[in-house]
Amino acid sequence: MKRTRALAAIGAVAAAALLLGPGTASAAAASPVIPTAPPVLNADGSMPNAPDGGAKKTAPETNLAKFPKLPVVRPSAAQSAAAAAAPKVAEVMTFKKKADGSVGIGLYEPHPGVTPEQLASNLRAAGDVTAVATTDTPDVAAAKAVGTPVQTSAAQTQLVQPMSAATWQNCQLGTAVTLTCAVSYWANNGLNHPNVRFNDHTSSVWPVNTAVYYANQAQGIDSTYLWDSCPFKAGARCVDVYSGDYGNTGWDGFAYLNWPNGSHTTPTGTTPPYGSGVFSEQGNYVQLNDYYSNTSQGHQHVAVHELGHVLGLGHGSGQNDVMNPSFGGADHPPLFPSSDEYALLANLYSVVH
Ligand SMILES: [Zn+2]
Repeated sequence: MKRTRALAAIGAVAAAALLLGPGTASAAAASPVIPTAPPVLNADGSMPNAPDGGAKKTAPETNLAKFPKLPVVRPSAAQSAAAAAAPKVAEVMTFKKKADGSVGIGLYEPHPGVTPEQLASNLRAAGDVTAVATTDTPDVAAAKAVGTPVQTSAAQTQLVQPMSAATWQNCQLGTAVTLTCAVSYWANNGLNHPNVRFNDHTSSVWPVNTAVYYANQAQGIDSTYLWDSCPFKAGARCVDVYSGDYGNTGWDGFAYLNWPNGSHTTPTGTTPPYGSGVFSEQGNYVQLNDYYSNTSQGHQHVAVHELGHVLGLGHGSGQNDVMNPSFGGADHPPLFPSSDEYALLANLYSVVH
């Protein structure tokens, strides 16, 4: 059934309806593949008609006893060099430059059986956004036009540059890569570590609390779990995580990230808070798609993966990388970040902004 749905995702809406028939998920298949706009939240960060989160409603903000900060294990230079030389996985992103000059990027994790090229094709057909896969040269011009760093090599076109020299040492470590290069990151805002508070509005099938605890094992950045509320806390920011039946979109998870006007195009090392790749404090969110009948492992993988994007990780290529986008909601995906991914986050947040 899962494979049938995946195949339907790549076909025309009519074909999907034919496969699934009326009265099933076919109604959802007719919806556009552009993610549904997030709901308007109440003043305390709660969501109107939030789903039942089950036991997550009483989950603690952190769980350092079971999920402590991890020692940093960096790959050897030889391992990094080998990873940099390896082929990069294809990925799908959308780019949008808003009227105020800020830039938003959407990242999609394809459902198993849906190739990045098929998902990109779906997104283009839906209009409004520009979809890009790493091997997809034409859309790279559009990405550049909105200020996204894009590196073109003779071999392939990549959104995230492979690291082969000291110039890029903050962008790749082993098989892990940053979301953008130059890097994007969260500002400290006066705190010892940047604090991302994940405001979970997802149903009980999504272990967002566990995903946050894994995220919080990274050195240099603190991730906090909150159930359906996010009261003000000085220096911290809220990132909302939603689930819903977004339909036969071809993707299991979606992360949307914002950069202020100019921030995304300026190299690192300039004056904080803006102008150096820093994320916008607001307007960032994650959506997890209930349409596909993934396993519990698949749910955890997708949740950890999307939170990894929020922290600043891009798509890695290692078989142990939770940020490898080729797993989707598969049965045996990585369930937590690899040592390379944790080490890259530690590098990224060793700088106080
Ligand atoms: Zn991804």
